Amino acid sequence: MTKEKDTLTTAFGIPVAEDQNSLTAGPRGPVLMQDAHLLEKLGHFDRERIPERVVHAKGAGAGGYFEVTADVTRYTKAKFLSQVGKRTEVFARFSTVGGEKGSADAARDPRGFAIKFYTEEGNYDLVGNNTPVFFIRDPLKFPDFIHTQKRHPATNCKDANMFWDFLSLTPESIHQVTILFSDRGTPATYRNMNGYSSHTYKWYNAAGDYVWVQYHFKTDQGIKNLSRQEAEGLSGSDPDHATRDLYEAIARGDYPSWTLEMQILTPEQAKDFRWDIFDITKVWPHGEVPPIKVGKLVLNRNPENYFAEVEQAAFGPGNTVPGIAVSPDKMLQARVFSYHDTHLHRLGPNYHLIPVNSPKGAKEKSYQRDGFMRVDAGGGGGPNYWPNSFGGPAPDPGAGEPPFEIAGPAGRHPYAFPNDDFVQPGDLYRKVMTEMDREHLIGNIVDHLGHAVKRIQMRQTAIFFKADPDYGRRVAAGLGLDIAAVERLAAMSAEERAGATQPGTFN
Ligand code: NDP
Repeated sequence: MTKEKDTLTTAFGIPVAEDQNSLTAGPRGPVLMQDAHLLEKLGHFDRERIPERVVHAKGAGAGGYFEVTADVTRYTKAKFLSQVGKRTEVFARFSTVGGEKGSADAARDPRGFAIKFYTEEGNYDLVGNNTPVFFIRDPLKFPDFIHTQKRHPATNCKDANMFWDFLSLTPESIHQVTILFSDRGTPATYRNMNGYSSHTYKWYNAAGDYVWVQYHFKTDQGIKNLSRQEAEGLSGSDPDHATRDLYEAIARGDYPSWTLEMQILTPEQAKDFRWDIFDITKVWPHGEVPPIKVGKLVLNRNPENYFAEVEQAAFGPGNTVPGIAVSPDKMLQARVFSYHDTHLHRLGPNYHLIPVNSPKGAKEKSYQRDGFMRVDAGGGGGPNYWPNSFGGPAPDPGAGEPPFEIAGPAGRHPYAFPNDDFVQPGDLYRKVMTEMDREHLIGNIVDHLGHAVKRIQMRQTAIFFKADPDYGRRVAAGLGLDIAAVERLAAMSAEERAGATQPGTFN
């Protein structure tokens, strides 16, 4: 049977008679204002783009499922984690961070690793990266940090001075900088990288007992990275290589998967732990907190429409389900605000109605009403306030996180825990990296830092030296710096170091 021909219509369903020639007065124009079809078409086209994300603008995404493979009910009462073999639909989005929507997938950058679990208790969003740590641990520094990774206000170019000026004045960044400038800073594809929650979260069980946890999604495809030279080549020849790779792998049925491993610390263990478990610049050493396998993430569905699903996908770390809660990590606390806030800006107050963001396993029943693009019945004629005595949805006290203690003087406190920022990056350099990893790391740093002015090179190299003297010496040699002067800077406190190099002119 042949399909009946569809008639083209306007957005309001009116048949369109002609879509090649605008309505004009005579064959040579001018165009008549009464060509409503033309006006509608241009007006919509003019508004096709929504504001791109300030960070994580370039991304790729896919749907799939999460399957529980171990019993974790003694740790969490989250229903989607309640049974071995249980599957929950997910949507995942991977991204670079600093580049614009058209930038190259092969850029040296952390990769975003965001997952939305459509659970029966509402959507659970986990917003991680392919690195277990981050550059800073206080959100007050975040906008400044991102500015330095983007474009110079005058030249509109990426700027090595801004980039390294900030990092060299922010020594806690050294752990993430070391990972970023290793070949893990340029993953071969989105399928060949791990995803980490980076932040610490809380899991609590039906009895209200809690543990602190970190998520590690380990790639089943194996870690595969690009060398600097390969990444630079791909950035020019195929800027969308990772986006295409993900789509094509799923299209041919080669579904990528990740094994979820959890690190779990009881509150008692956390008390005596060497590292501040809420400091996102630190990991929990595997030897002390062995990860346990709890599930599998599989991506097996490509989006039908990129804009609808990937561009409009909106994740928020505040979206936790009963059994899971955020931790006091200051960066995480700020992200709870900032992600939702940016979606309100980009997508509007009703972004939860966009299908990719709507709960699929549960139903929204709230008293939020109206606003731009409220495209459903908006609660109809039901009550729009609580409490009401007309049968409107009521809060469920059992859904809340058990009360927890918070105490202490209000103030602007730096992380005071014995936080040696140099031990973990030093261990990474000395114990985890192979000699080839170290060679690539030094080469990648020298290639990038070499574009900054000497005084900034010196200050940053002193920080590498503090992580490991060999690390500092090799960067200094690559940049042709006076190693004795670098060592003198390394011996200073961060404040002294900042003061020891003359300020320059920004432009
Ligand atoms: P382990 O030897 O138990 O773990 C080392 C980890 O380093 C592995 O998870 C490995 O990931 C990862 N790794 C290997 N090469 C690199 C690289 N070039 N860049 C970044 N990570 C890499 O040691 P510890 O747990 O005691 O940690 C030692 C150091 O390893 C840490 O200071 C940290 O820098 C790094 N690390 C630790 C993680 C953790 O959660 N403990 C997670 C990731 C890194 P994989 O197994 O996937 O290959």
